[in-house]
Amino acid sequence: MQLKGVNAAPGLVMGPCLVLEEIHHPDFTHHSIADDLLEEEKNKVRIALDLAEKQLTAIRDRASAAGLEEQAAVMDAHLMMLGDPILTEGFLTSVESEHLPAVGAVQKGISAQADIFESLEDAYFRERAQDIRDIGRRLVNLLLGIEEPDISSLPEALILIARDITPSMMASVDTKNLLGIVAEIGGKTSHTAILANNMGIPAVLGCHDVVSVAKSQPSGARIAVDGSSGLVHIGLTDEMADSLRAEAERRAAVKASLAVLKDQPTVTKDGVHVQLAANVMGPGDVEKVLAVGGEGVGLYRTEFLFMDRDKAPDEEEQYLSYRTMIEGLGGKPVIIRTMDIGGDKSVDYLNIAKEENPFLGYRALRICLERDDLFLTQLRAILRAAVHGQALVMFPMVSSLDELRAAKAKVEQAKEQLKLRGETYADDIKVGIMIEIPSAAVIADVLIQEADFFSIGSNDLTQYTLAVDRMNEKISYLYNSFHPAMLRLIKSVIEPARAAGGDKFAGMCGEMAGDPRATLVLLGLGLQEFSVGPSGLLRIRKIITSVDFSYAKSVADKALTLGTAAEIEAYLAEALPEELKAFMV
Ligand code: PEP
Ligand code: MG
Repeated sequence: MQLKGVNAAPGLVMGPCLVLEEIHHPDFTHHSIADDLLEEEKNKVRIALDLAEKQLTAIRDRASAAGLEEQAAVMDAHLMMLGDPILTEGFLTSVESEHLPAVGAVQKGISAQADIFESLEDAYFRERAQDIRDIGRRLVNLLLGIEEPDISSLPEALILIARDITPSMMASVDTKNLLGIVAEIGGKTSHTAILANNMGIPAVLGCHDVVSVAKSQPSGARIAVDGSSGLVHIGLTDEMADSLRAEAERRAAVKASLAVLKDQPTVTKDGVHVQLAANVMGPGDVEKVLAVGGEGVGLYRTEFLFMDRDKAPDEEEQYLSYRTMIEGLGGKPVIIRTMDIGGDKSVDYLNIAKEENPFLGYRALRICLERDDLFLTQLRAILRAAVHGQALVMFPMVSSLDELRAAKAKVEQAKEQLKLRGETYADDIKVGIMIEIPSAAVIADVLIQEADFFSIGSNDLTQYTLAVDRMNEKISYLYNSFHPAMLRLIKSVIEPARAAGGDKFAGMCGEMAGDPRATLVLLGLGLQEFSVGPSGLLRIRKIITSVDFSYAKSVADKALTLGTAAEIEAYLAEALPEELKAFMV
């Protein structure tokens, strides 16, 4: 059987799958048990506490052995809470005096304790509510005999299937054994897709019914995920498996043929150089960038350093990460984007209230400009790290000149603080902005007077320009970066940056920059820097180095006259030289 979803990260893989089911715990806090069952239920509580302790200790030890000290510390904290007699005796008392079953007693005790933590002034204690609920979830699972798979260590190489695979699951999953992912939720530029792209893991998202279809297969059944076409094949016959394997080999050969471009400059046939950089999540990606001859880092998404943990990294930890990245790039430029939390990237310990429209809400720079504790700490870490190579700082989600000025004032304030501390820092650091909100694109000529560079965030720019939520698979057919409005906006951002001259430049770090269908038109519009996921970098170099800039310009001029996304896409497919078509997957 074949299902179609959104082609979120390229690559064709085959293997067994692990289906993560959503677990809903029924509420047992209103159940009542007979007198003669009280002892039995109390015993169940004791056994669950004992098993939970064993599980937590095992996870803690595994994390420690793997050098994951943060994760080990969280498990230690959970163990401490689990050993708190106020909590555990409370469960037993509830069984005894309120005649609650073991599960109901745990649910009631956990919820009361979490409510107390949540009502406290101190942010640190408020954050503990989350830990208490985690412990409760573990105990209830044990009492109900529900097994929640631990994706941080997968038993074999497999494809992960779930209704939702969140960015934080991607940050913690066992990548060694992860062949591919399929989820019912998410679109092409959801952060799960972006992470999968950066990690080189094939992904199909927005794939309706995949959980129930996969579950209906006999255990051990193989599935195939084609992240390039968005197709998921479930219940493969031997014949299908053979033909997919041949296709995977063909694509691998095309990819391997690109390796010769690794050390070549990204120059068009008629001599125009563009900077071809990579998007990264952290120092762990340095090797991948160097392996493909990336000319720098065009987007370092620092928010991933803030995720999947229970408190923000301090200045020293951030400094070390940024320094490792900068030194790893050995003098090539690294654009460090300040944290872009919000939208689909949530961070529990920041206690950001749920919003109706998180992508239009309290996000990124909007949070930073209110939270000196987070923003100044990050800026100081970047300024200190920047003396170890070539680093630039970039702000996400700028919508006005006021915000750019406010953010730049914070950079100056961070420098003052470092000066007072007697630290060395990069006083002359370049400060740029993402252009991902239409208001910023429209006033690009004004913004470039006070910004050193632009990087077009086509992922958000598309969703805000077209009013199409980038996460919503129901309307994903409307999410299209080839819309004529996008081409015009991109042109209106590039032109003033080029006209400003000097070292100023306009780049792009959204997914469109790594889409081979867009390379000709972006090149022709005069884009000076492309920043793309490392795994797709060489095919962009292949296209740029195989054409003349003058040809790309004529293609862009023509594309700008067309009235629909479909016409533009069809024209660009036709305009791509025949010998480059093999590189489109
Ligand atoms: C973008 O919006 O294009 C971008 C690069 O930022 P992010 O995808 O992290 O929102
Ligand atoms: Mg963005």
